[in-house]
Amino acid sequence: MRTKAIEEMATRPKTEVAFATEKVSDYFGADVFDKEKMRRYLPKAVYESVVSAIDEGRRIDRRIADQVAAGMKAWAMERGATHYTHWFQPLNDSTAEKHDTFFEPMWGGGSFENFSGDLLVQQEPDASSFPNGGLRNTFEARGYSAWDPSSPTFIIDDTLCIPSIFIAYTGEALDFKTPLLRSLAALDRAAVEVCQLFDKEVGKVVATLGWEQEYFLVDEALYRARPDLMQTGRTLMGHSAAKDQQLDDHYWGEIPDRVIAFMKDVEQTAFRLGIPLKTRHNEVAPNQYECAPMFEEANIAVDHNTLLMTVMRRVAVKHKLQVLFHEKPFMGVNGSGKHCNWSLATDKGQNLLAPGKTPKTNMQFLAFFVSILRAAAERGTMIMASIATESNSHRLGGNEAPPAILSVFAGSTLNSVLDDIEQRISDKALSPDEKTGIKLDIGKIPEILLDNTDRNRTSPFAFTGNRFEFRATGSSANCAMPLIVINTAVAEQLTRFKELVDGLIGKGVKKDEAILQVIRQFITESKAVRFEGNGYSQEWHEEAARRGLKGITSVTSAIKEYINPVNVELFGRFGIFSEVELAARYEIKNETFLKKVQIESRVLADLAANHIIPTAIRYQNVLIDNVRGIKELFPKEYEVMASAELNTIRMISDHVKNIREMSAAMVEARKKWNAVEDVIARAAGYEEEVRPFISDIRYHIDKLELIVDDRLWTLPKYRELFTI
Ligand code: ADP
Ligand code: MG
Repeated sequence: MRTKAIEEMATRPKTEVAFATEKVSDYFGADVFDKEKMRRYLPKAVYESVVSAIDEGRRIDRRIADQVAAGMKAWAMERGATHYTHWFQPLNDSTAEKHDTFFEPMWGGGSFENFSGDLLVQQEPDASSFPNGGLRNTFEARGYSAWDPSSPTFIIDDTLCIPSIFIAYTGEALDFKTPLLRSLAALDRAAVEVCQLFDKEVGKVVATLGWEQEYFLVDEALYRARPDLMQTGRTLMGHSAAKDQQLDDHYWGEIPDRVIAFMKDVEQTAFRLGIPLKTRHNEVAPNQYECAPMFEEANIAVDHNTLLMTVMRRVAVKHKLQVLFHEKPFMGVNGSGKHCNWSLATDKGQNLLAPGKTPKTNMQFLAFFVSILRAAAERGTMIMASIATESNSHRLGGNEAPPAILSVFAGSTLNSVLDDIEQRISDKALSPDEKTGIKLDIGKIPEILLDNTDRNRTSPFAFTGNRFEFRATGSSANCAMPLIVINTAVAEQLTRFKELVDGLIGKGVKKDEAILQVIRQFITESKAVRFEGNGYSQEWHEEAARRGLKGITSVTSAIKEYINPVNVELFGRFGIFSEVELAARYEIKNETFLKKVQIESRVLADLAANHIIPTAIRYQNVLIDNVRGIKELFPKEYEVMASAELNTIRMISDHVKNIREMSAAMVEARKKWNAVEDVIARAAGYEEEVRPFISDIRYHIDKLELIVDDRLWTLPKYRELFTI
């Protein structure tokens, strides 16, 4: 294609990469009202009570809210802020903000800047247009947002942003943050109980999260020439480029100047917002990149990830780029994920998933490790349901991303430790020698793990030395959802671990031995979920089926886990989601799935009818003219001479016919399912009967792309989209 877009790209001035003149530490967190600023802007007593509320996960006392708001306002206005907003994460792919100005005219003349404690702590946005899964129909339409003091406020442009939870008037959560905070609290309680078996001093356990964000960049002009990218976030058509990722020359390659300029700009903004970005590199596919921060406390890390996605989108536009967070923007090359590195840390700064120096700390490590294995074994399908979305389903299970079956990779050495423990410990009392032997071996775990460098990239949930890495999350997702499920599932097993140990102790078993016995029991119970081999292989799919592990085969069936009574019971037991909240989420997930397929189907049919077919016919007419000319000049030989053209004319007719017929059938399928009232049935119908047309129609379009004259083709091709 030769459009203005490509010309514009070619004539654009070269990017200048500016080098930073300031140290990052000079401005890191400059736009955040963090503890250091609180100390400066708040009276001492107020500061202390805010900090203790943060540490204890409490709401801010209404009585001090006015003073906190006053300090915050003073800081924000000094920095030029004129507006404030409650910033929250509703149940769609983005964040929400509604700005209000501090400025207020006074009755009878004059004006002032107002920001009271009430405005800081709670607001009542009209929630009616956010996804609510029917909560709005059955209850009150209104919702309210409330400040989450454990995540600091920050300034973007002229607006003070207040990280908030978002709930319905009746108390049901309408966002990701509320259940995340609930799951973190449940995990904290359960983990502290287990820690105290080993160390009475531990008073708090937090989950830590280090995400890795993959994304694509495309030139803005080319992006705008692709209605499918603009409207659906992915290309619905496009034949593979002759060269894409087959030479592995992009991964960790030189970062193009244009991209490095974008990355630097993103980093500067991120650093000012206190987001500790650490790593940047080229990823496997052309135009694909990744960034990752230092890990942080999970709630903050989730806020930082969602915030960074916004920053990236905005900065990209400044560089005449578009950032694609879709999991599979281009067929045939790798898609994007958001690996979630997850661990647990105590208030004493100890990483509970890092083996320690003594047998005691290693017993503790094992207690946590096997509880996580057990959680994955018991709640694997719910964990996978948490990341099952329309867009992620294009990526999962390909030879680039983990399969849609949850298994855990522990590493061969740790695996043999587990096997060894399972064999050596029995229900019978251990002899003193046996005990010493086992303890000695457990003491050796850290050395073993130091050499344990094998890092299986094909496992969805891999232990990587001092943390677990959950690799199935999609790049566009809010990573709170898988974390909520993992936190809850682990809290469940830790609680059970403690109960079983207490039970044995009650029967007169010594504490150490009781712990070892429960560790062994958990090892046995979670065996099916441990897998060390190649997760991409066909053998694994067969093996997983033998083990009774269920994978995602379709999105609408995978998400049924949200309403599976065993999960409803679990989330209810730990106070994470009520049944109503789960049902609402289930409905939203179905609705979102269905709407995304519907949009794709419409865009595709439109492009097929208005771009592809007219172009194909134009080219076919050129060929027809050509054949006519040949026939005129060589009436006897023309059939031989023009046989290739004649064949191409037939091929074009064939593809066009297929595209027309399938598009018509797809529209009929949409009509059929649109008439179905029940959204759950409609989503399943869309998945089974509408969605397959999208790839079937694409097949014929991509064939036409290979045939038709490049000058006539109206859409930028993959090889063009892959230039930067
Ligand atoms: P890789 O690509 O090899 O998996 P990266 O260096 O890109 O590794 O990412 C590793 C991520 O794991 C980083 O975000 C890092 O902060 C995070 N991480 C390291 N230790 C922990 C931990 N204890 N808890 C949570 N995340 C961690
Ligand atoms: Mg990783």
